[in-house]
Amino acid sequence: MKAYTYLAKGKFAFTEKPKPRVLGDRDAVVRVTLASICTSDLHIRHGSVPRAVPGIAVGHEMVGVVEEAGAAVPFARGDRVAVNVETFCGECFFCRRGYVNNCTDRDGGWALGCRIDGGQAEFVRVPFADMGLTKIPDGVSDEQALFVGDILATGYWAADIAEIGKGDAVLVIGAGPTGICAMLCARLKSSARVIVCEKDPVRLRFVREHYPDVLTVAPEDAAAFVREHSGHGGADAVIEAAGTAESFRLGWECARPNAVVVVAALYDAPQMLPLPDMYGKNLTFKTGGVDGCKCGEIMRLVAEGKIDTTPLITHTFAFSELDRAYDLFERRADGVMKVAVKM
Ligand SMILES: [Zn+2]
Ligand SMILES: [Zn+2]
Repeated sequence: MKAYTYLAKGKFAFTEKPKPRVLGDRDAVVRVTLASICTSDLHIRHGSVPRAVPGIAVGHEMVGVVEEAGAAVPFARGDRVAVNVETFCGECFFCRRGYVNNCTDRDGGWALGCRIDGGQAEFVRVPFADMGLTKIPDGVSDEQALFVGDILATGYWAADIAEIGKGDAVLVIGAGPTGICAMLCARLKSSARVIVCEKDPVRLRFVREHYPDVLTVAPEDAAAFVREHSGHGGADAVIEAAGTAESFRLGWECARPNAVVVVAALYDAPQMLPLPDMYGKNLTFKTGGVDGCKCGEIMRLVAEGKIDTTPLITHTFAFSELDRAYDLFERRADGVMKVAVKM
């Protein structure tokens, strides 16, 4: 089969690989029908993911059709499924508490398209498929389900741990794909008022066009704007999804006292917590990588029409055009948010 492969730092290319097979009871092989490119794929290509194993097929955002399922996997050949970015055993200390990102199994965590072959390929073997596949209901298209297992799971998780209450003002920093997913999920939390802060005018316009109920602001105006549009001197909850020094600082600056600040972004460099400046604000910081174990709930919300991420798919390519798709995505050309790759 054809697979888009991490050959060496700076180099991805198509290679021929044997079609994967089920190796254990909890494995499934999925025929990929639609895939996407994630910023993490770019990090692998740049050589900034030390765990990434040269020679693996990349890609960890995909939906497809079950081709073959192990005995313990409650899916049958032909079932349409969304694949979770994380593989997790469901049994270890962390999995039992819902912290599946920290699964201690050898295949646990982000393995697909990083340490083992991923889904920018015709077929992918999914370990722990009994935990990591989500059935796509009839009436939900591949496009609607494409982000359930990765960026939407991240947005959902971030909104969930932000402890958003009824009527709260929520600040989401960053209107990239993950920030928009977080915003969509924060919007569902009762009557929360959501403010999106973003420095790229193209992305701000994207939010205003597609989600007119959401307030938008540029970083330089954020502190005053958030104060004005929240009840208690700042946001009741903050989700930082931009990943710069400025956005990190805005996160705690725009929060009201005793707020929760969720740091969902990934940074290139360490960030400073100037504790004397924030003394008395009594903030709660939550950091990290997604615990993607609520994909069933997310898929239900998609099916009910409460979450729609299809506007994020700004460009669609054929599998054979992946080089071009990566190039466009990396350069953020032509207003791209996410690409969909038809297999
Ligand atoms: Zn990703
Ligand atoms: Zn585990």
